[in-house]
Amino acid sequence: MSVELQLERIKSQIPPNVTLVAVSKTHPIEKITEAYNAGQRIFGENKVQELVSKAEKLPNDISWHLIGHLQTNKVKYIASFVSLIHAVDSKKLLLEIDKQAKKNNRIIDCLLQIHIAQEESKFGFSFPECEDLLKDNEVTELKNVNIIGLMGMATNTDNESQIQNEFKGLNNFYIQKKSQFPFLKVLSIGMSSDYLIAIDHGSTMVRIGSSIFGLRA
Ligand SMILES: *Cc1c(COP(=O)(O)O)cnc(C)c1O
Repeated sequence: MSVELQLERIKSQIPPNVTLVAVSKTHPIEKITEAYNAGQRIFGENKVQELVSKAEKLPNDISWHLIGHLQTNKVKYIASFVSLIHAVDSKKLLLEIDKQAKKNNRIIDCLLQIHIAQEESKFGFSFPECEDLLKDNEVTELKNVNIIGLMGMATNTDNESQIQNEFKGLNNFYIQKKSQFPFLKVLSIGMSSDYLIAIDHGSTMVRIGSSIFGLRA
């Protein structure tokens, strides 16, 4: 199926309050252009270098999201244009984003990544660590970062009830924190394999790659 038809199919499945991030990592400019021509304007990449090189070649009304792990020393390469950083997983990273955003005269939107999966390899804060960060005075005083929500990745498993439990737990935490910190407006959960489950559990933003662009090489 073409990129355009896949986009249409996915959009018909997600409610209008859920934002679709088209994850274009590893896919060539031509494929991204197909999605762009079909009206898609939000794209996600997980590597800084790839993000920078694609952003240079594509129209500048695209909103670029960095969805993958971000190293502190690479923030400077994306600070001038990135619209949302999904995977903030340390205070040190947040401070660096603030510093680089300030240099560029910008305020950068960020999501705090919460570790919900069982795999050791996934990054992110625990619930208590996230609470501490939201209350941390050094963080609340930052002028050039805007924490607008939370992001999570479920365990890569066929066990649907495990995925449901992980999303349910994160959504409960999100709802609770949102009442305390009303600036939390985004819950970024759901990828190709689990976005329908994520939407059932409060997702406001899904990050979908292979279901739009096909399998990655
Ligand atoms: C690659 C990636 C996705 C999209 O994965 P698909 O299974 O291709 O939909 C979503 N989120 C993150 C953080 C990713 O790295």
